[in-house]
Amino acid sequence: MANIQTTAGASSSSIQTLERIGAHSHIRGLGLDEHLQPLSGPAQGLIGQKSARRAAGLVVEMVKSARIAGRAILMAGPPSSGKTAIGMAMSQSLGPDVPFVMLSSSEVFSLEMSKTEALTQAFRKAIGVRIKEEAEVLEGEVVEIIVDRSLTGATKTGKLTLKTTDMETIYDLGSKMIDTLSKEKITAGDVVSIDKSSGRISKIGRSYTRARDYDAGGPDTKFVACPEGELQHRRTVTHTVTLHEIDVINSRTQGFLALFAGDTGEIKPELRAQIDGKVEEWKEEGKATVVPGVLFIDEVHMLDVECFSFLNRALEGEMAPLVVMASNRGLARIRGTRFRSPHGIPIDLLDRALIVATTKYAEEEIGAILQLRAQEEDVELSAEALSVLTRIGAETSLRYAINLITTSGLACRRRKGQKVEVPDVRRVYGLFLDEKRSVEYLTAHAKEFMA
Ligand code: ATP
Repeated sequence: MANIQTTAGASSSSIQTLERIGAHSHIRGLGLDEHLQPLSGPAQGLIGQKSARRAAGLVVEMVKSARIAGRAILMAGPPSSGKTAIGMAMSQSLGPDVPFVMLSSSEVFSLEMSKTEALTQAFRKAIGVRIKEEAEVLEGEVVEIIVDRSLTGATKTGKLTLKTTDMETIYDLGSKMIDTLSKEKITAGDVVSIDKSSGRISKIGRSYTRARDYDAGGPDTKFVACPEGELQHRRTVTHTVTLHEIDVINSRTQGFLALFAGDTGEIKPELRAQIDGKVEEWKEEGKATVVPGVLFIDEVHMLDVECFSFLNRALEGEMAPLVVMASNRGLARIRGTRFRSPHGIPIDLLDRALIVATTKYAEEEIGAILQLRAQEEDVELSAEALSVLTRIGAETSLRYAINLITTSGLACRRRKGQKVEVPDVRRVYGLFLDEKRSVEYLTAHAKEFMA
């Protein structure tokens, strides 16, 4: 392939493939000071688990300084002890163009592709390529953004009016560009550059004059329409795409549209080899740098022995991302074998992993986490309700207690109350069983269920 494409017409800079997961929406970072020491109290949404946070902070530093090749981290600890929460916090502490991919092990078996293809794609989504390109850019201050609201979804279009000094031009926007404008919170008064070949829009500053002056127009303000050339420069622009995005864009059968559909199918190994070769060339020519990111594999004990051997091999790769695995299992059988091993992970993979332990929470930490979640969910708890929920969290599980916040909040609203009180909690505790009571119920009613 002579000419490997790195852009897909519209912007493909959505490098943070991570989806916002409601359960962790209160987490904003690792809550560490500049010496990587955990700040006390709730810090960026995290409570306690100080040594795991300190270790995660070090790992983030290693990722940022690209000293992670071939490493794996195992977050090991009891259920609901914050392994995923700390993983999310790590993703927020990485730079905006460092990829962070979260994969639940069961996904590897449910996708319509082989296990190794699913893992390869996850690996390549976690490797960024920062590319420097000479590009024609339009640069100017945003005067106005008009989105055609009569159209929805993929066909959404719009116009962006840009201006320098007293001239203005209108740029037609595609749907992806409109999404970028809202994601980057670009509004009138921002100075932006538009890469004309990829359509990528980046904010490069805030207005050099006040947007209000343009908006209002005013009787004395006259704009002179200018040819695009006036606002146009050639510039070296840097953008980051993932290896997976480059694979998909260059895959002849799929084309870049597959990126938007999310249905990429299997990609041929020869194509990947060509792309790796090309990236190597760009590196040597100083046109690109590789940015290994993080691949977070949740419930790692669900993987089988073939997946583990793939991971072992893939970690040897020169561009390998940091693999962070999480498991709440103790000694367990390695899937696909009859052998048992710590966390259900083969010894050779365990041997290369740095293990970060998360520990069970003390009651007051549970209370503090529940308080944070209540704030996040806009549920006001009375002191007594919080203390009952805290006890439930300590005796059953933190996750169960968190779920009761939402439901008791609903119960409170139904009775038109402002604040969740103990009877609201009691009501939902009676309606929804925790794991222990569910097992008791099943045991007592075993005959009524199918075997
Ligand atoms: P499992 O092993 O069952 O997958 P886990 O260790 O990954 O559990 P999480 O999913 O991270 O546990 O935690 C359960 C809930 O508690 C989540 O909503 C998470 O955001 C919250 N949580 C856990 N630990 C903390 C913490 N230290 N500070 C704030 N919130 C936390």
